[in-house]
Amino acid sequence: MIDVHCHIDQFSKPFEIAKKAEDKGIITVAVTSLPEHFNLAYPHFVGFKHVRLALGYHPMLSGNKKFEENLFRTLAIKTSYIGEIGLDFSEKDASKRQMQIDTLQRIFNIIKDRPRFISLHSRRAEKSLFDLVNENKLKKAVFHWYNGPLNLLDKLINAGHYFSINPAMIKSKNGQKIIERIPSDRVLTETDGPYVKIKGIPAQPEDTKLIIEYLKVIWAKSFEDTDNIIRKNFKILISYIENT
Ligand SMILES: [Zn+2]
Repeated sequence: MIDVHCHIDQFSKPFEIAKKAEDKGIITVAVTSLPEHFNLAYPHFVGFKHVRLALGYHPMLSGNKKFEENLFRTLAIKTSYIGEIGLDFSEKDASKRQMQIDTLQRIFNIIKDRPRFISLHSRRAEKSLFDLVNENKLKKAVFHWYNGPLNLLDKLINAGHYFSINPAMIKSKNGQKIIERIPSDRVLTETDGPYVKIKGIPAQPEDTKLIIEYLKVIWAKSFEDTDNIIRKNFKILISYIENT
């Protein structure tokens, strides 16, 4: 199983969660919300094979937490995994929205040196984010918890991007509609734990099995074949990043 978007550092016992995922061989992208958090966590993740720490700056922190650009640039050298970054226009304040766009542009400038795994947050800002991704010629980005319009989803699919599906999406009508529309070779799985909860309990990397259970029905495959498709998608994406 694969969890491409988990906030391991936000669990009460992050190291336990990381160790469990590592021992079970669950490839887990441990996203962060600030470069300072990545910096703190980094020494603890050295030596992990399956758990990969991602460097991020959460858009909802724009205007509240200063974006430490120099720190982000220094840390970006250490990792091919970027997230969580993006735009969130549930923020109504126009100046803060503009701040999010400016910060994201600065991040894109930093990470354009080489292809990377990029986990994107796009809530209510899907169109603006799509435009920014295009302007920056980003290839094969991963749209995490996509919940935008279906016509834009088609454009993102045609542009070659990926989508990570979480346990909250399989429970919502709109999420289900979106999942059905994505070709199986563009689907990845995530938990977004601890923010996404399952029966009140923060979702952990192993809970991606619930998404496999859901997908296998839609795709009319066995659990194993479904899991293999997701693994293959991730492998292809990573080999693109490593060999381009
Ligand atoms: Zn998240």
